[in-house]
Amino acid sequence: MSSYPKSPLMGQMMSKPMLISSIIEHADRYFGKNEIVSRRVEGDIHRYNYSECHRRSKRLANALRQLGVQLGDRIATLAWNGYRHLEAYYAISGSGAVLHTINPRLHPEQISYIVNHAEDQYLLFDLTFLPIIQAIAAHCPCVKGYIAMCDRDRLPTDGKLPNLLCYEDLIDANSDDFVWPVFDENSASSLCYTSGTTGHPKGALYSHRSTILHSYASSMPDGLNVSARDSVLPVVPMFHVNAWGLPYSAPLSGAKLVFPGPQLDGKSLYELFEQEQVTFSAGVPTVWLGLLTYVAQNDLKFSTFKRTVIGGSACPPAMMKTLRLTYGVEVVHAWGMTEMSPLGTAGTLMAKHRDLSEEEQQAVLEKQGHVLYGVEIKIVDDAGQELPWDGKTYGNLLVRGSWIISSYFKGEGGDVLQDGWFPTGDVATIDPDGYMQITDRSKDVIKSGGEWIGTIDLENVAMAYPGVLQAACIGVFHPKWDERPLLLVVRKPGAEVDKQALLRFFDGKIAKWWTPDDVVFIDALPLGATGKILKNKLREQFKEYHLPTA
Ligand code: ADP
Repeated sequence: MSSYPKSPLMGQMMSKPMLISSIIEHADRYFGKNEIVSRRVEGDIHRYNYSECHRRSKRLANALRQLGVQLGDRIATLAWNGYRHLEAYYAISGSGAVLHTINPRLHPEQISYIVNHAEDQYLLFDLTFLPIIQAIAAHCPCVKGYIAMCDRDRLPTDGKLPNLLCYEDLIDANSDDFVWPVFDENSASSLCYTSGTTGHPKGALYSHRSTILHSYASSMPDGLNVSARDSVLPVVPMFHVNAWGLPYSAPLSGAKLVFPGPQLDGKSLYELFEQEQVTFSAGVPTVWLGLLTYVAQNDLKFSTFKRTVIGGSACPPAMMKTLRLTYGVEVVHAWGMTEMSPLGTAGTLMAKHRDLSEEEQQAVLEKQGHVLYGVEIKIVDDAGQELPWDGKTYGNLLVRGSWIISSYFKGEGGDVLQDGWFPTGDVATIDPDGYMQITDRSKDVIKSGGEWIGTIDLENVAMAYPGVLQAACIGVFHPKWDERPLLLVVRKPGAEVDKQALLRFFDGKIAKWWTPDDVVFIDALPLGATGKILKNKLREQFKEYHLPTA
């Protein structure tokens, strides 16, 4: 953190540190009766409100103090989206400790690596994840206790876990008489490790200040647009980049929160959307596949669902069209990453787009969108030279801003900035209006005869073809061109797809030489811990694949 020169005339406004505890205090005082509804791991639906959430968070904060937790200590969670997890968000960060959310979809070896790397003192977990705790406990000497987030009568009796505590016992045994401590707003508040598809996961350490600024910015109308009139269902997990900040921006705005717990299948989600009159949701494209399939198969409609943010990987235009045109749900295509808290850009229209045709508007919305105030972006070539914003030239995407990482936890990876900018690893174009479009991740770009082929465009075309459920494009070895695109396709249940007809479907939609050389139908695509297609696995699997020679 650098220090800046002081003006001889300083402003005369109160200087109140921006602390996460202030969000739940605000929600309690001004939106106290607004609801938080959770589908619990126990199976039932739990309801309470922001005032009760605040009271229980303070009880948990007292419990942590009793357990000896100090400012800056890391406390981990392995939990679904639910009210107890929300209480942990506020109790841990609010009391000055650091909330370390762990992605349970990681391999237990990776989980014990990050628990040890973070030096977590306590680990709170949902019962679903007991097998993970049993697998890692012996390898994590830093953890003083495991806190099971369940009712007393569900507490596992596991002799192998002597340091097992019951969350509800801690809540019952402590009072809600707790004053949130005040400290420097630049103090660490939470820690989130990248999924580490290559090498060890690295930690992004957020601060109270960066979190509050991100919450403000992401709530704006051209961001997530969260308000006190919304019923918000975050499908994106609280263990993945803080559910895109919704556990902060919803209470800050007074929105009702609806947590789906472990049941993320189309039917369970649909029921919750309808019962709780959900107006707004957020998630990665793979989640919407399940929900949309269920809704289509059962000929259903959404009665209150109006808007969703889709990001984490490119939203297929076909999915966006279905949501917008068939179900009347506005789709905001957003882009960001763990290192960016996560939001950087969101796609909404400007006044000048109002009179465009539906198709032209869709073309604008398909891009990853405009930056939120507080983030700057630019594209550069391999020599670091800035490239024009013409919507065609693509280059390495760099970012900077108040909620962008400056270095990884414990300095892993060394100095990661390039002249004060963070290289995202994404390749993008930016158009003259500032709309950014991701072409690819730099490691997924196909290099054919010295030219680049972006795989997202190819996948988007394939996904618009009838019968195609999912598509992924990878580069495979070619003796003449080094690499050529191979398209891997998962068909919709029962659908027939003709390979040649699918390839002909690309005609006129992309440059001819981008057309995949071949198509392989597979049963499923390998997904990583955050629901993204693991292209490195696919490249490994198809390493020896021989493309047909023309
Ligand atoms: P990781 O997958 O490495 O854990 P994140 O979950 O933080 O990291 O994902 C960040 C990456 O996801 C971005 O760098 C980008 O490649 C991809 N991504 C996120 N949103 C989008 C989007 N809307 N379109 C295309 N790619 C996206």
